[in-house]
Amino acid sequence: MKPAPFHYRRPLDVAEALAELRAAPDGKLLAGGQSLLAVMNLRLSRPSHLIDIGRLGELDRIFDDEDSLIVGALCTHRRLETDPLVRRRVPLLAEAVGHVGHISIRNQGTLGGSVAHADPAAELPAALVALDATLYVDRHDRPRREVPAEAFFLSFYTTVLEPAEMLTWIRVPAPGRDTTWGFAEIARRRGDFASAGAAVVLSREAGVVRRARCVLFGVADRPILLDTAGLTGRPVTGETAEAYAADATRDLEPPDEPELRRAHARVCVTRALRDAARRGT
Ligand code: FAD
Repeated sequence: MKPAPFHYRRPLDVAEALAELRAAPDGKLLAGGQSLLAVMNLRLSRPSHLIDIGRLGELDRIFDDEDSLIVGALCTHRRLETDPLVRRRVPLLAEAVGHVGHISIRNQGTLGGSVAHADPAAELPAALVALDATLYVDRHDRPRREVPAEAFFLSFYTTVLEPAEMLTWIRVPAPGRDTTWGFAEIARRRGDFASAGAAVVLSREAGVVRRARCVLFGVADRPILLDTAGLTGRPVTGETAEAYAADATRDLEPPDEPELRRAHARVCVTRALRDAARRGT
């Protein structure tokens, strides 16, 4: 199918993009087009205006800001996967994005597009929640909003973004020396969306977990930040990982294939914790 007719705009900077959104609040931003064009072709989305932000070079940048990386919304998946700064400072992000689709999709798809699209099985939203990232949201008529990643995703393909708002930057805290991370997902084939996955960030002191963030994706309407009280104050071993994973996933009710996805979630949490423990030794 072909999309419904639309007006096409191609702003050259963020201010112009925000002005275009102001003029057409029901317009859609076009970033990598990997999700939006498919839903437009199916006529599930019929925006009056398509605002192509692909020329906003100012958002295709990554800054090292001491304890964080500041990543522009237009950075492609492939850039996150290969950028030396990202790989060194926030390796969980580079690992997670390597599981997104195939290389042709990663060459086009953007961090901002993935986050705004909010597919509940997407890797990047889950990694950002695990890393305790902050999303910067701009609109023409008010000061920038800073939204913690864990508050950004509301439901299937639904976020706190309001009409005429644009995600511009993402602040990702870079884990310190005492922090380790793990990632695991299960997909039917390499490149498919995951049936379940887990991203874990652990801070440790004298071999025991001091703080943990463990996020599941693919098993609910959005990334789920698990209660990690059962992990803190003890070391992560194969046994504690398995016991925690069993406990943390027991009451999940995935909307599709609940038994299978619950089982996959349990395996992913165990693997991600073991991955973190191995990396931290
Ligand atoms: P677009 O398609 O351009 O936009 C998506 C939505 O976000 C639109 O509503 C758009 O208006 C909005 N938007 C874009 N940028 C902004 C912004 N800065 N501010 C506010 N709103 C914005 N994803 C995964 O996570 N895991 C996978 O395994 C995976 N597999 C895929 C397999 C295939 C075959 C395909 C086609 C896609 C797959 N994807 C997967 C999706 C891919 O990651 C997309 O790139 C991503 O979801 C959207 O990014 P985009 O830049 O292409 O956004």
